[in-house]
Amino acid sequence: MKKQIEQLSAYEPGLSPRALKESYGIEGELHKLASNENLYGPSPKVNEAIQAHLDELQYYPETGSPLIKEAISKQLNVDPARILFGAGLDEVILMISRAVLTPGDNIVTSEMTFGQYYHNAIVEAANVVQVPLQNGGFDLEGILSEIDEDTKLVWLCNPNNPTGTYFTHEALSNFLDHVPSHVPVIIDEAYVEFVTADDFPDTLALQQQHANAFLLRTFSKAYGLAGMRIGYVIAPKEAIEKYNIIRPPFNVGRLSEYAALAAFEDQAYLSSIRTRNAEEREKFFELAQSNHFYPSQTNFVFVKTDKPQVLYEALLKVGCITRAFPNGVRITIGFPEQNAAMREVLETFEF
Ligand SMILES: *Cc1c(COP(=O)(O)O)cnc(C)c1O
Repeated sequence: MKKQIEQLSAYEPGLSPRALKESYGIEGELHKLASNENLYGPSPKVNEAIQAHLDELQYYPETGSPLIKEAISKQLNVDPARILFGAGLDEVILMISRAVLTPGDNIVTSEMTFGQYYHNAIVEAANVVQVPLQNGGFDLEGILSEIDEDTKLVWLCNPNNPTGTYFTHEALSNFLDHVPSHVPVIIDEAYVEFVTADDFPDTLALQQQHANAFLLRTFSKAYGLAGMRIGYVIAPKEAIEKYNIIRPPFNVGRLSEYAALAAFEDQAYLSSIRTRNAEEREKFFELAQSNHFYPSQTNFVFVKTDKPQVLYEALLKVGCITRAFPNGVRITIGFPEQNAAMREVLETFEF
């Protein structure tokens, strides 16, 4: 067994709604607002697409997800040879780490970001440099100063999970101007479809000047397909060819591919999700208590408190399962009723 695996632990899901009800003695319904899922679910077209392929379950899917690849390639005007799919971004992050990292290499990322960059680097016996956040956001200058000759990957998460904060087009562009061009900068945009800020990076445009800017996107969040497991990376063809060697041949299921295709083709539905989410998000930031929140461009709000467990339990009592961190609580924005109930808790909470 690889020794470094002993430093890690398996992913710990939160308690199930049933277990939570029992241990906290909760009567009413519990809503899961802990994993940034889109509670409205995917476009109704997805259901039809899945139904249409239910008689093909005995066959392996086509390798490489060619239909959704073509759709994305056309829509984003990207060579299909530059796109690779994984069973969610989780698998994409795993494949990139596996292809690139050898013992003694390092990755540079931020503290308090998506945990899989760290996890997969440790599995490959690489070192992880974590730069502290600055006001809840990525400190790009700090990250730049940590890049050295051992750095094989830089991971950025924009907007960031769990804080919800983002960096601008200008900030990313300046950053890329200074990173050595042989170091891949992987930009995870899992929440990009929720963004409403005008100065958010146009990462596809930046890729034209910076071949080392790699882009990650997923169908798990705004598209509402977390259960289908499909996400992708857009990178130079040469990198994709190598990752494709690592990729398990049938990593993305047939129904996942058709579901993603139907969801991707229904941009009107996606846009309605973005609008609804932004309206609900805005209501959190109208609270007098919003000075305790990091600004958010996502479908979640990070509430800073040194009593995260107290807040977590107060939210649970009004039927909302959120996620506690050592320095706060991350609340996924849910349906209006749930959000209103959570705001009432926040209005009287002693931070
Ligand atoms: C949810 C999430 C992912 C993983 O998404 P999957 O495509 O479901 O594996 C990756 N990165 C970030 C920042 C996330 O929040």
